Amino acid sequence: MSDGGGFRLLFENNPVPMWVYDVATLAFLEVNVAAVAHYGYSREEFLRMRITDIRPPDELERMNEAVAAQSADGAVLRRRGFWKHRLKDGRIREMETASHGLEFAGRRAALVVAIDMTELRDTQASLKKSSERLQMLHEIDRALIAAEAPVAIAEAALKRLRDLLDVPRAIVNLFDLEAGEAEWLAAIGRRRLHLGPGVRFPLTLMGDVSALARGELQVIETAALPRSEAADALLASGVETYMVVPMIAHGELIGAVSFGGAPSAFSEEQVDIAREVAAQMAIALAQARLTERVKRQAEELEQRVETRTQELRAANAEADRANRAKSDFLSRMSHELRTPLNAILGFGQLLERRVAEGRDRESVDQILKGGRHLLTLINEILDISRIEAGRLSLSSEPVQVGDALKRVLDLARPLAGDRHIAFVADDVLRDERYVLADSQRLQQVLLNLVSNAIKYNRDGGRITLACEVAREGWLRITVRDMGAGIAPALQRRLFTPFDRLGAESATVEGTGLGLALSKGLVEAMGGRIGVESTEGEGSAFWVELAQTASPDQRSGLGPRRDVAGVEAGGRQGTVLYIEDNASNLRLVERVLGEHTRMRLITAMQGRLGLALAHEHRPDLILADLHLPDMSGEEVLRAVLDDRALRATPVIILSADATPGQIKRLLAAGARAYLTKPLDVGQLLGEIEAALAPQGTT
Ligand code: ADP
Repeated sequence: MSDGGGFRLLFENNPVPMWVYDVATLAFLEVNVAAVAHYGYSREEFLRMRITDIRPPDELERMNEAVAAQSADGAVLRRRGFWKHRLKDGRIREMETASHGLEFAGRRAALVVAIDMTELRDTQASLKKSSERLQMLHEIDRALIAAEAPVAIAEAALKRLRDLLDVPRAIVNLFDLEAGEAEWLAAIGRRRLHLGPGVRFPLTLMGDVSALARGELQVIETAALPRSEAADALLASGVETYMVVPMIAHGELIGAVSFGGAPSAFSEEQVDIAREVAAQMAIALAQARLTERVKRQAEELEQRVETRTQELRAANAEADRANRAKSDFLSRMSHELRTPLNAILGFGQLLERRVAEGRDRESVDQILKGGRHLLTLINEILDISRIEAGRLSLSSEPVQVGDALKRVLDLARPLAGDRHIAFVADDVLRDERYVLADSQRLQQVLLNLVSNAIKYNRDGGRITLACEVAREGWLRITVRDMGAGIAPALQRRLFTPFDRLGAESATVEGTGLGLALSKGLVEAMGGRIGVESTEGEGSAFWVELAQTASPDQRSGLGPRRDVAGVEAGGRQGTVLYIEDNASNLRLVERVLGEHTRMRLITAMQGRLGLALAHEHRPDLILADLHLPDMSGEEVLRAVLDDRALRATPVIILSADATPGQIKRLLAAGARAYLTKPLDVGQLLGEIEAALAPQGTT
């Protein structure tokens, strides 16, 4: 570089390798410091070399062509190019060169500037590759997320994987470690995708399973496998080697992806990608399996719930049926029991009227007492069974508190008088407030509480009745006694049927059903019942019912007429009694015979009774409800429909004490409804009332 110190300086100290060579001989004429540093030759060595000496052999041909072209045109050289150069230590570098023709020491020469592009190119290439790879993995990821079933996941992953790795064959297998088998989920060849699942083969084809479980991949030489159908098939399809990449999800080996190909077909990069995809797929497959299991379990659960519901429905129906059968049985039984009881009590009452004081009278009293106790028991059992079966029909009407208590006290006074027990109830008997209840049933409950307060009181004690507002809209009626009280531990047993809390050993009579029945009744009326008791001081039983402000002006449920003292003594006339039970017939026959001057005609069937009624025109008809040919209700309707008989009063006598039934027959036109066992006094009173001239009742 003869011309100009500035240019030489630029050449010498330039950080980019530069040299000048003789275009004709290709010999180096000058090199700079950077070239010496880059290529590893000293300046002296360079100046003994030609530019072909820094080319690898595979570049020589292209180099010679370029040189030939250059000498042929003879023009001033000015070109750029990419070349591979060899350093002194043998390493090959990618160089970008720019050449420029010039005169150097009188020769045709060229100045070359060479920039090492190796690193840049490598970086670019690997950037491109990794962005491609990321893109692919991302696509697989998306496909995995979108796919639900394991087969769909395997399919989505395999398609991308084949493109990414450019391997001829890939298979996704799930392992059944217990069975020692692998199941083929999906496979992909160059052109086709095969979808399992279902094909199973021995796990031995997957290599060392415990190594796979540790995350190590296996490279298998097909020919080295023990001979088997599967191995033969692999060989037949040209798979000499394959790589098995484990799929591990949450630490558990669930399967493998295997790649078939020629020996040593797998680069490190491919293996890396395969591992990544396998790991992703493992998670997706585990997830899918879990989802499938959960779905299956949900379905099973649903199925089980459905089955159980059906079973329960059937059991419920069965229980309902059994319950109905039970209450049918009870109501039939109680009817059957009442009929003979009717005879016992009826004839007992007749005797009672005839036998004066003395031992016989005592016997009669015992018979009546036993009979009445039995009657109470039957009635209470029947009521409880009706409540349990939900078949108790109750009315809901405004009932005046004072009225209800008055009626109860009227009934209870004789019993209290025997024990010198006084009532403190003046205020409450004037209480004009109303509660919503079934009048008859409320009276039954209150009578029960008052009877208990008498029974379990001390002789000469007091019973205090009160009514107060319990809470907004609710009235509480309290019956307080001065008895022994009830121990706290026993209090919750009070309302259990037949539990008498030990009272059975004392002389106090009872069934143990009263409170259980009262609770059932009060709750059926929408109210509550409870007790507060202090041992040694007494008990306070209370009933809470909804208060109602606007009572209907109802009639018909006024104070019960006291019929016991009324007798049809002097009255004459004919009574027709239609009844199929002989002892009932005899009883009524005796009652009328002994206490009235009435003639009795009887019929044991409904139709016969109606015929007799036409013939004899009786003044009164008594009819049983259960007759062999028609019901007492039909007899009643027939009488009312018959112009000739319409005016004849009909009194129903029945063992069926259901309030609904009683109401219905009274509404249908019966003059009265008497329940068996008959109360003789009541029967005589009703007969008297029915026969009295109009306006005197
Ligand atoms: P019963 O009076 O027919 O035995 P209840 O169901 O009416 O049946 O009462 C159950 C039991 O509760 C009684 O046997 C008695 O032991 C107890 N009991 C009821 N009322 C009182 C009361 N006022 N004081 C003390 N004990 C009572």
